[in-house]
Amino acid sequence: MIRIVLNNNRRGEIMKKLLSFLSGALIFFAASLSLTTVAKSAEFFTIGTGGPTGVYFQTGNAICKMLHKYATSAEHGRKKAATDKAYRCTAPSTGGSNYNIGQIKDGEFQFGVAQSDWQFHAVNGSSKWEGKQFKGLRAVFSVHNEPFQIWARKKAKVKDFKGLKGKVVNIGNPGSGQRGTMEELMKAMGVDNGYFKSVTELTSSEQVKALCDGKIDAFGYSVGFPNGAMEQAATCGAKALPINLTGGPVQGLIDGADYYASATIPAGTYTGQKKDVTTFGVKATVVTSNAVEEELVYLVVKAVFENFDDFKKQHPAFAPLKKKDMIADGLSAPLHPGAIKYYKEAGLM
Ligand code: GLU
Repeated sequence: MIRIVLNNNRRGEIMKKLLSFLSGALIFFAASLSLTTVAKSAEFFTIGTGGPTGVYFQTGNAICKMLHKYATSAEHGRKKAATDKAYRCTAPSTGGSNYNIGQIKDGEFQFGVAQSDWQFHAVNGSSKWEGKQFKGLRAVFSVHNEPFQIWARKKAKVKDFKGLKGKVVNIGNPGSGQRGTMEELMKAMGVDNGYFKSVTELTSSEQVKALCDGKIDAFGYSVGFPNGAMEQAATCGAKALPINLTGGPVQGLIDGADYYASATIPAGTYTGQKKDVTTFGVKATVVTSNAVEEELVYLVVKAVFENFDDFKKQHPAFAPLKKKDMIADGLSAPLHPGAIKYYKEAGLM
């Protein structure tokens, strides 16, 4: 009979293999466990912005930066951690105000940057939001001023809005606040698309090149200043037109609505701009939904307000910001409870 005897060496080898298999399995188990833990505690959320060359894109990304800075310092124990969740934020470029509000309504985005006029219309179901009222829209804070600007190329020889008759005009992409506000302005001026030779629906990041290349004569755009893309337009000889306010239909727009105000782009803001450009404007605001949890909104606000100097440095349009104004100006939707919690805690309310 042949007995199979394992000598000590062989037995040791098998034990080693068994042990290494077991420890491998253990590591794999532990790793998958920790992966699920990470996936559970990392909460991803999105802030809708605007075109990549606008200020909204910078706004959304500045907010993410402040949140990550705050969250990271909390995670590293330098500050008391405000939450056991690791929030991670992205701020992709989008079609603008109305697109962002729509995505928040559908639960695709948790936050968005939107013009004060479109915040008002969405929560009240007016203008473009008629029949689609978004009662759950909530205000977080307002940011920079956005004068509504009509830029025209030099050769088009346009001096004011009326001069746009028979010209090729970019009215903006559907979903942008720019498009909506241009249409409101056109209504106030008593004109429709037929007043122009033709209209284009270019995005904010396409329109400056089209203007400088002579493919369009003018565009209407609501955006913060100073702004790199508008400087590019100024450098190719284009100018922002003044919009006549006193006694005119635009004065009516301003008088009739809290979400509009008169606005000025001071002389010298852009190359070759010798005079102040007077116009009407809106506020850029940050909005969310009542379906977004209080803790997240609280943290977003806290991250921005407690890193305020750093936040203001993220774009020159933020330089004039004041906390007190940001919690009141241009906000027509109710403030989100998470924002109120922080404002009370900080003594701002
Ligand atoms: N106000 C513009 C809009 O809602 C966007 C401006 C920007 O991107 O800074 O379409």
